[in-house]
Amino acid sequence: MQVRITVSFPYEAPVSQSLFDRASAVTPGGVNSPVRAFRAVGGTPRFMVSGTGPYLTDADGREYVDLVCSWGPMILGHSHPEVIAAVQDAVARGTSFGTPGAGEVELAEEIVARIEPVEQVRLVSSGTEATMSAIRLARGFTGRPKVVKFAGCYHGHVDALLAAAGSGVATFGLPDTPGVTGAQAGDTIVLPYNDIEAVRAAFAAHPGEIACVITEASPGNMGVVPPLPGFNQGLKDLCAGNGALYISDEVMTGFRVSKAGWYGIDGVRPDLMTFGKVMGGGFPAAAFGGRADVMAHLAPAGPVYQAGTLSGNPIATAAGVAQLRLLDDAAYRKVDAVSAEVRGLVTAALAKEGVAHRLQVAGNMFSVFFTDAEVTDYDAAKAQESFRFTAFFHSMLSQGVYLPPSAFESWFVSTAHDTAAVERIAAALPAAARAAAGATA
Ligand code: PLP
Repeated sequence: MQVRITVSFPYEAPVSQSLFDRASAVTPGGVNSPVRAFRAVGGTPRFMVSGTGPYLTDADGREYVDLVCSWGPMILGHSHPEVIAAVQDAVARGTSFGTPGAGEVELAEEIVARIEPVEQVRLVSSGTEATMSAIRLARGFTGRPKVVKFAGCYHGHVDALLAAAGSGVATFGLPDTPGVTGAQAGDTIVLPYNDIEAVRAAFAAHPGEIACVITEASPGNMGVVPPLPGFNQGLKDLCAGNGALYISDEVMTGFRVSKAGWYGIDGVRPDLMTFGKVMGGGFPAAAFGGRADVMAHLAPAGPVYQAGTLSGNPIATAAGVAQLRLLDDAAYRKVDAVSAEVRGLVTAALAKEGVAHRLQVAGNMFSVFFTDAEVTDYDAAKAQESFRFTAFFHSMLSQGVYLPPSAFESWFVSTAHDTAAVERIAAALPAAARAAAGATA
């Protein structure tokens, strides 16, 4: 998809451009994860060389206030000294043992202590692995084939869950992904988000066949679209009444929106949960866990196979433990306060220019939809005027504020976003709002 950039101010990034040219020769699309590319907004992706606190510095030496935070993990900002010290200490003792290690126990204990429904947890290396393993376990536990997911929810690039997925799949408007066979996706039932009657109807249409309902605890991959009041409880009740498992994907919300993630906000008790991002402190660590009787079906305790050479890697677990231990109530109060401040500034700037928008919030996660209407599902998210986001994005970028390069992603802040960082955002917003107001499709 080619996108026309409608902002007129020139700005260049020659070193990023040359890295991107080299990358494009050896890597498809020049990036190792599609959402990092600027295809939806046009232009050259910035190649970052360092991060400190709320700032990233690119290969051209330009500094940006970072409102992506590595897509969520960097909740303490970049290069937090205590996380770095924990990592350095772990590296000095070796990088991978292929045996059990103390760091894995500590990270698992941190997770179980924080999130009451998680009685047992298995560590993996990515959110994708976590959701893939959780649905395999749900199928193995129930002996049933079908999985319910919601349009616009993204659970990683698991074959069975790529139908009508959010994140990059939404950003690039991909219908379904070639390479996923009918058989792999044939047991996936995709329903509109926030439509509990559709879930009830699916259970009625497939009695005894649905192993699990998987949902983002509060979706952030079609932009931020929180569950309507009672929706998650309704899912839980329908699952319980029909012998299926309720899987809450907290890869994005877990340890971010509160100490106990979205569960800490809505209190709806899942059978299984998935985690990633924040729990790895910027390293590849993720997890799935939940009811002990369900987890007991996992190998080697039970018959459902799941494994990983680098699962529970000592450096990743050291970073994760250090980050989680720093995330006390005061840290969440700080992130919530920064989020509220930035949201207030964004909406004031857009309102001043008369730009129709909705700022949607889930805890300290938020995103801007360029539309008048409330966004409660994927169709509504797609109906926004995303060309306005393109103009807004490039204006912010040119003024040193790094937003997700897509209108369908959450924005993230950290404890490191201080007054100086917020002032830089505030200074950039008026021109960005004017660019959004003047943008044409
Ligand atoms: N689940 C959710 C809710 C996510 O947001 C993501 C990634 O953005 C994933 C799963 C996949 O995680 P990973 O990218 O670590 O594979």
